Amino acid sequence: MSYVIDPPKQAALPIKGTDKLFPVHRIYCIGRNYADHAREMGHDPNKEPPFFFQKNPNNLRTDGLFPYPPGTKDVHFEIEMIVALKSGGTNIKTEDALKHVWGYGIGLDMTRRDLQGKAKDLGRPWEVGKAFEHSAPATALLPAEKIGHPETGAIWLDVNGKRRQTGDLNQMIWDVPGQIAYISTLFELRAGDIIMTGTPAGVGAIVKGDKLHGHVDGVGDLEVTVV
Ligand code: MN
Repeated sequence: MSYVIDPPKQAALPIKGTDKLFPVHRIYCIGRNYADHAREMGHDPNKEPPFFFQKNPNNLRTDGLFPYPPGTKDVHFEIEMIVALKSGGTNIKTEDALKHVWGYGIGLDMTRRDLQGKAKDLGRPWEVGKAFEHSAPATALLPAEKIGHPETGAIWLDVNGKRRQTGDLNQMIWDVPGQIAYISTLFELRAGDIIMTGTPAGVGAIVKGDKLHGHVDGVGDLEVTVV
């Protein structure tokens, strides 16, 4: 058998310091996973079980550029740690979850906040706000066998040299093992799935020309220019 059109290119993230690639199967993103960010979005962080949405694998971009998207006047940054899975399954136990992690990176969950807000008001899905082209600028990945599993450490984002988001990985309401375990009760996680693990408080709008510099202790830095 052959394809009737050329198959789409396999989405992938580079591996830092190598010529190797991590093939990306799906992108799960957790919502409101840092208490201060949940509050700034108008929610009580203590009452809510986790929820997830998805971006498309081909929304990833690793060349340091974020083209301002169409159809919006309010695009927000959300700095997040990325977890990349080398294996998966269903009903993964929390204590087994980290065995499935290949490594870590840093990403921006870029959001058309005005379209997301409209979708929320109308009870509609979030794709228009979250899963658009180039909406996931990201770094190369680092293997857990080199850096371990980051559980604490600063996560921050500067815009044009000014600190806008600050938090610590230990402020996650659902930690990485908890997220993996929870997602695996609803979906069959697979090798190549990645998880964007939520953003600390301080999200805000960007304009063309802005320079974003994100950081996660133990993982590194992500620098992105809005074009
Ligand atoms: Mn997010």
